[in-house]
Amino acid sequence: MEKPGGVLIAGAGPVGFITALGLARAGIPVTVIEAEEKINDSPRAAVYFPVTLEFLERLGIVDEAHAIGVQNDKLQIRYRDADEAYVLSPSVLRGDTRYPYQLHFGQNELAELVHRRLAGIPETEVRFNTRLVAIAQDSGGVTATARTPRGDAELRCDWLIGCDGGRSGVRKALNLSFDGHTWPERFVATNVRYDHFDRYGLGLANFFSHPVRWAVVAVVSRTGLWRVTYNEDGDCSDEEAIRRVPQRYAELFPDLGRYELVAVSPYRVHERISEKLRVGRVLLAGDAAHVCNPCGGMGLTTGLMDAQALIDALGAVIHGKAHESVLDFYADERRRVFLEVTTPAATEYRRLLGEKDPERRRRDRENLRHVTSHPEIMRQNMLSLFGTRGRPMLQ
Ligand SMILES: Cc1cc2nc3c(=O)[nH]c(=O)nc-3n(C[C@H](O)[C@H](O)[C@H](O)COP(=O)(O)OP(=O)(O)OC[C@H]3O[C@@H](n4cnc5c(N)ncnc54)[C@H](O)[C@@H]3O)c2cc1C
Repeated sequence: MEKPGGVLIAGAGPVGFITALGLARAGIPVTVIEAEEKINDSPRAAVYFPVTLEFLERLGIVDEAHAIGVQNDKLQIRYRDADEAYVLSPSVLRGDTRYPYQLHFGQNELAELVHRRLAGIPETEVRFNTRLVAIAQDSGGVTATARTPRGDAELRCDWLIGCDGGRSGVRKALNLSFDGHTWPERFVATNVRYDHFDRYGLGLANFFSHPVRWAVVAVVSRTGLWRVTYNEDGDCSDEEAIRRVPQRYAELFPDLGRYELVAVSPYRVHERISEKLRVGRVLLAGDAAHVCNPCGGMGLTTGLMDAQALIDALGAVIHGKAHESVLDFYADERRRVFLEVTTPAATEYRRLLGEKDPERRRRDRENLRHVTSHPEIMRQNMLSLFGTRGRPMLQ
């Protein structure tokens, strides 16, 4: 049996890698195993809010994040059907955070950046092509069975963290239910090169609200790559969703002209949470623990806040500075935050984007007009959702 060290992390997504970096910086031996042969670079999350940037600063990678990201301090909510737009701006948090803006870059770039950083830290290892398939635990540790191209291997560790995404094998091995609901519609995330979204009145980050066909449009790189995510019929297959992209683009952006479609990911979206985030020496974080719709960029943000809390809690337990029960506090608090803050906010963003009732759409615009003309109300709304140092909500 191989002994990889103190903590074994299943999943080299952003949450697994960031958790590994935080623990490794605390002097804890960490091994990350990843089922695939490389980091997943399909179009997924791309926006990092002030609270996330403060966390990246703590991990010593905020400068590298700024070097690759596009800085933006405006989220526009544009009503396609009413030709009206309202701008929410994190610049109102100027007195609350060093980062009163958001950065845009792909989550694969965050994972790559952290991967490079981990390579320089002793007693830290990343193994690709290594899929966790079974776990057994006793009072002294966890034995994980991993499938590799050279056959199965048994890895012994003190603690196992499942950061293996929405279909988490760790969660399934623990027989935990994943409670919540699946949205009836599908979402399609596309990466596209196009230089003229300003023709549609769009800024660097936009909710393009419409009762039938809505979209979230945001820049994702300095090289002119954009993310357009929109709704698709619930019964549409992957192949059909991909075939329909030009038709959907034409509905969203009439007379678009030439564009280069770089990647398309149709997917099913859920609001779900695991019944527990800790079973003995096994913990869950990120999408393995909970998933929500991507409309407000809450999925990755919440996952990274799990990582932040878990680094502190597990680090303290391993260094003998806290009792193991602090891990139950982690598990209960992260469940509470997801149920009370994250999923209600993500659901409200989704509603705002595609609200069908004309009267509610009118009231939403009225509310947005009020909020955007009162910076202090906007600030309080943002603090109550994301918090910043000293005001933990999503943290
Ligand atoms: C198409 C799409 C678009 C999205 N868009 C947004 C968005 O715009 N904004 C937003 O906030 N969120 C978005 N999300 C959600 C966001 O991507 C997730 O919240 C985020 O990826 C969570 O990170 P994670 O590290 O927890 O999981 P993941 O990124 O899913 O990483 C899990 C990793 O574990 C690996 N793995 C799986 N099983 C095993 C196993 N048994 N053993 C070892 N490794 C394993 C996987 O290969 C993967 O690399 C989107 C998701 C999808 C699918």
